[in-house]
Amino acid sequence: MIQKTSEFFKMLPAKSCTKCGNSMTEQADCYTTTCEDCNDFQHYAIYN
Ligand SMILES: [Zn+2]
Repeated sequence: MIQKTSEFFKMLPAKSCTKCGNSMTEQADCYTTTCEDCNDFQHYAIYN
């Protein structure tokens, strides 16, 4: 059974950032719970 990755992501419910609450329709990574902006901030915080 071959399923395209794009098809798979289309089936996922729209996620929202756990930090700012913005919808993350463009963020398809399953391991992240925050939007790109908050991810950048987290990265910055980790490296400090
Ligand atoms: Zn955010």
